[in-house]
Amino acid sequence: MIYFDNAATTKVSDNAAKKAFEVMTEFYGNPSSVHDFGYEAEKLLKEARKTILSKLGSVDRNDDFIFTSCGTEANNLAIFGALGARKHGGKTVFFSDSEHASVYAISKELEKNGYNVRYIPTKNGLLDLDFCKNNFTKDTVLISCMYANNETGAVYDINALDSLRKKLCPEAVLHTDAVQAFCKTEKPLCRCGADLISISGHKVHAPKGSGGLFIKAKTRITPLLLGGGQEKDIRPGTEALPAICAFAQAVLETDEKSNIKTVEQVRDHLVLMLSEKLAQVKINVPENFSPFVLSLTLPGIKSEVMLRYLSAKGIYVSAGSACTSKHRENRVLSAFGLDFKNADCTIRLSFCEYNTKDEADEFVKALSDGISSLVSQK
Ligand code: PLP
Repeated sequence: MIYFDNAATTKVSDNAAKKAFEVMTEFYGNPSSVHDFGYEAEKLLKEARKTILSKLGSVDRNDDFIFTSCGTEANNLAIFGALGARKHGGKTVFFSDSEHASVYAISKELEKNGYNVRYIPTKNGLLDLDFCKNNFTKDTVLISCMYANNETGAVYDINALDSLRKKLCPEAVLHTDAVQAFCKTEKPLCRCGADLISISGHKVHAPKGSGGLFIKAKTRITPLLLGGGQEKDIRPGTEALPAICAFAQAVLETDEKSNIKTVEQVRDHLVLMLSEKLAQVKINVPENFSPFVLSLTLPGIKSEVMLRYLSAKGIYVSAGSACTSKHRENRVLSAFGLDFKNADCTIRLSFCEYNTKDEADEFVKALSDGISSLVSQK
């Protein structure tokens, strides 16, 4: 099997799986229980929080990290939570036009709720900063822009948004959905200037069921759920300690420098092979990009058809993001600059450090065979 769908989800690392099992079977106390067994669980929870904050590069003791069930929940908590704490603030909110469904759906809900929702263009993966300069005003209450795009790999300049925010709308809160960037950048994410950062465990070799929100010191946020006082009174519900500890274990094991190098080698090799052997495949390269995601437009073959062809050969890739794969129109690829026809023929490859150049070679061979056989069937 060749698994090039790591932006959808990743294999759980052996040590993370062992950690989850250990916590389930040996440290199954409730972190909120007042007895010693609960205290042991609470200690593990605190350690996990410290590990994640440290990986994010936090240096302020008043920064916080709230565990959630996934990146989608972290995005909801960030945006609705920040707006809930600013009910008397401005009514204009900005999103990039390429957000993941879990943020885009929120933007649509805010439109219904009377917010003035604006979308920052991201043609070729580049944030339109002139648009921001001309439109950020004192009425701006929130700016949300993803760090790395899950379909194109585009990396957006969150620091530039932070500078404009500070100049034009200092009261606004800045959120970034960094689900595709966490543990995949050499620069610690905290340095991007965002007040709120969403991340997800299952994208970095942890089990599904863990994610969270980084909250910069002094950033106000209201809870979305009612219940007990877990997670600093921000996210009630008994913490999923096995998944959380496995998340921290996976994060501890991550070596960004070496992972980025490995992934770059595989990606660059694949790009070279494609340009030498399959020049008719268009490689969609954003201005700034993460090597973990590669977007390819096929010559007149629908992505779904090629996906099934490759899947039958044990090669797993995706068409756009897994979460939007049932929808016809591709909002993100169209924002990038692809017309409907090309977007419909675009596949996404996403890598992790377990992938190899040999897999890249096998993929190119299978894609080449697929193109020949599918074109001849037309
Ligand atoms: N944000 C981005 C950019 C993503 O790629 C994804 C998942 O693909 C999510 C958010 C949602 O994360 P989760 O699956 O943990 O809810």
